[in-house]
Amino acid sequence: MAAVEFIKPISHEDGVSEATKLFVDTYGSAPEGVWAAPGRVNLIGEHTDYNAGLCLPIALPQRTFIALKPREDTKVRVVSSISPDKVAEADLDGLKARGVDGWAAYPVGVAWALREAGFKVKGFDAAFVSCVPLGSGLSSSAAMTCSTALALDDVYGLGYGDSDAGRVTLINAAIKSENEMAGASTGGLDQNASMRCTPGHALLLDCRPELTPLENVSQQEFDLDKYGLELLVVDTQAPHQLNDGQYAQRRATCEEAAKVLGVANLRVAADGIAKADDQFQALKETLDALPDETMKKRVRHVVTEIERVRSFVRAFAQGDIESAGRLFNASHDSLAADYEVTVPELDIAVDVARHNGAYGARMTGGGFGGSIIALVDKGRSQEVAQKIADEFDKQGFHAPRALAAYAAASASREA
Ligand code: ADP
Ligand code: MG
Repeated sequence: MAAVEFIKPISHEDGVSEATKLFVDTYGSAPEGVWAAPGRVNLIGEHTDYNAGLCLPIALPQRTFIALKPREDTKVRVVSSISPDKVAEADLDGLKARGVDGWAAYPVGVAWALREAGFKVKGFDAAFVSCVPLGSGLSSSAAMTCSTALALDDVYGLGYGDSDAGRVTLINAAIKSENEMAGASTGGLDQNASMRCTPGHALLLDCRPELTPLENVSQQEFDLDKYGLELLVVDTQAPHQLNDGQYAQRRATCEEAAKVLGVANLRVAADGIAKADDQFQALKETLDALPDETMKKRVRHVVTEIERVRSFVRAFAQGDIESAGRLFNASHDSLAADYEVTVPELDIAVDVARHNGAYGARMTGGGFGGSIIALVDKGRSQEVAQKIADEFDKQGFHAPRALAAYAAASASREA
């Protein structure tokens, strides 16, 4: 049976030299600099960001590098190592939402969003080199939009990239680009992770809209070594289903449920339940107030998932890895049964990990394909990943790929 592939991060040196080379080969001159932003993996708290809930991502060591040079005019040219011979072009002048097709919408949309916000940003030439797997729930899109936002901030002297609070302005441009130029719904988790995570820490992100940037994150130690652990990520490579409509549907159901419950968002409902003397009864009463079975299930996921984030943070800080693992399992089971966003590849990968000694395993990201994570003892990632690959082979699924995750750094200038 074929050995499962592990995706290695591109080193700082290779990222800089490969992005610079692609830039020079494409445009015939040197870039002004090179920047990079990471993909992310969400430890727990899935489909909670757009419900003003809690989530807990780490930045991956896998990064997207961008070599960039500003232009005097409003033209944008972008090229990616994925198809190094194809340069995409756009013009920021008169550009409207959804005005750019294909992957170029992500970087072009960032410049457009910054201009819409009133910043004096002009055109640019850019070359991307990435080792973040695309469309695998590990946020290659945020790695692209955030690296672009940081580069533009730097070359146009906006001054937001140097502080955590300032980065929120860039995050907003990255989110706007994904939502309005690329037409991909995103709730903000990915961009915050890519811009605000710190090495050795998970980012506890509180998505309540009323919080200021200084209030909405806290850095939680996430030192796998300390507990003799590894975090295995397996990209199932499940063919992406038509998930756009599904994501929008989940969001709409949550908004409708909040309306029925008379609250601004489901976080308010979750906090009410968390504070009740009898939480079980409080959850039951909330669900009883909802008109249909599907809505009850969606709300039960969101409310219990927010609580699981709190419990996971506590358990991990105390070194209670058994409980942390059980919370991974409960999160997955809720996403499968109540939120209904898993596919057979995700369920089977999780199942195999659990049966092969993982403390816990769950799908991560939006679902309908993408990746799973498993908390395993140090030195066991390879073996568990191989078991998953072997089972996929038996089932006739695509061969999965794996990576060894740890809490890495956020976006930065590299050269
Ligand atoms: P994810 O963010 O989980 O990887 P998305 O569907 O949100 O999945 O984003 C993937 C899309 O982002 C790709 O289909 C492509 O359009 C764009 N993209 C991301 N990284 C790159 C890259 N390095 N080169 C070209 N396009 C990219
Ligand atoms: Mg994405």
